[in-house]
Amino acid sequence: MRDPDARPDRRVWTGCVVCPDGSDCPECDGRRTCERHWRFLLDAQGRRVFLQCPRCLHRWWHDTRFGVGGREHDVEDLPAPSEAAGDGRAA
Ligand SMILES: [Zn+2]
Ligand SMILES: [Zn+2]
Repeated sequence: MRDPDARPDRRVWTGCVVCPDGSDCPECDGRRTCERHWRFLLDAQGRRVFLQCPRCLHRWWHDTRFGVGGREHDVEDLPAPSEAAGDGRAA
């Protein structure tokens, strides 16, 4: 049964732990947002997301390895706060 929280506008592109779908797909291979191989995003807790596969309806927690304890190498640091908005204190 599809989870009541499963919505087509909340999708995550990661492989299902049960189905082998996507393993041979050039679109998934290119890490693109494949139209056929995606999972419902049901919930998120920190760096873990709760997913449901639309094919086999299996639900599981997936560790995205984002956030706490690690970061993607292509994520850049946010720019430092602007000093123009300072309160006039001089060093
Ligand atoms: Zn599946
Ligand atoms: Zn695919």
